[in-house]
Amino acid sequence: MNGPSTAAETTPAPVTRLEFDVSWSPGFVSAYLLDGDEPTLVDAGMYSPDNETELDLEPTDVDHVVVTHPHIDHVGFVEHLVETGEPRVYAPDAYRRTLSTPLSTVERRIERTVAEAGVPEKMADAATAFTLERVREVREALPADSVDVWIRDGESIDVGGRQFDATTTGGHQREHLCFGVDLDGERALFSGDMAIRTFRAVAVHAGLEPSQREALAAYDEALDRLEAIDADRVYPGHGPVHTELREAIRTARESLDRLLERTEAALRPSGTHAVHAAAARTDDVSSGPWLPEAIAALVALERAGRAESYLEDGVRYYVPVE
Ligand SMILES: [Zn+2]
Repeated sequence: MNGPSTAAETTPAPVTRLEFDVSWSPGFVSAYLLDGDEPTLVDAGMYSPDNETELDLEPTDVDHVVVTHPHIDHVGFVEHLVETGEPRVYAPDAYRRTLSTPLSTVERRIERTVAEAGVPEKMADAATAFTLERVREVREALPADSVDVWIRDGESIDVGGRQFDATTTGGHQREHLCFGVDLDGERALFSGDMAIRTFRAVAVHAGLEPSQREALAAYDEALDRLEAIDADRVYPGHGPVHTELREAIRTARESLDRLLERTEAALRPSGTHAVHAAAARTDDVSSGPWLPEAIAALVALERAGRAESYLEDGVRYYVPVE
């Protein structure tokens, strides 16, 4: 963690921004500590022994922990805080339903998605195992029994004397919530991995599970919802605290358009599956967001009438529309 650092020019009084090192771009994830009678942490960083040494925060300093979405870099310290203090933990209600699906079922869903995406048979088991491990990791970092309050879309929840207004914002992650909060006369938006000022968060809605097919529709809907929100200041999980919600939404829309264009350019009359489409964007499709984004983009192209698909030996191929 590079802090806790209070960026006075971007962060008004009651908010302290905590930064945790992560090994992927942009190299850090932020959590926000709201001061007051009942200190509240929004998101819980990335766990690592180094980050723990750096976290000069007594667990007893935190009365509430609010989670925007169950990704490992946002829930890393939940268990640490629960084991050493007594915070109330709040998480998206949709995640509770996800947790009710046994891992064996998740594994079968991943296998099916991996096969349909065109992952070669000799690599399919490794791809499934790797993806399942990421799911397991998050479940261990944020198990159901560490959550006290499940928050639904549209709900307004009292968190230590402050109202948190939840809006569901999928696309990056299917259970993702953004929270509008009145802070010191300003309207704040704790936006998790949405509304990042300088780049678009990857569209890994459901990773390599079948509902990844809904990723771009969900992302669009989330951006529409964010567009309807007023916020004076946005506190995202990555990138700077900013006052440019509309601009951040525009950046994301443009980036999604480019994703569709690049995916469309990869369509061949002989048939393009998701691994082909991902390989048009990266040399290594085996990890990272490439394959899930390709799955999502191909589906979006077909729904927009820009591609057609067919199944052959369990693999879904897309062709340009003549
Ligand atoms: Zn995330």
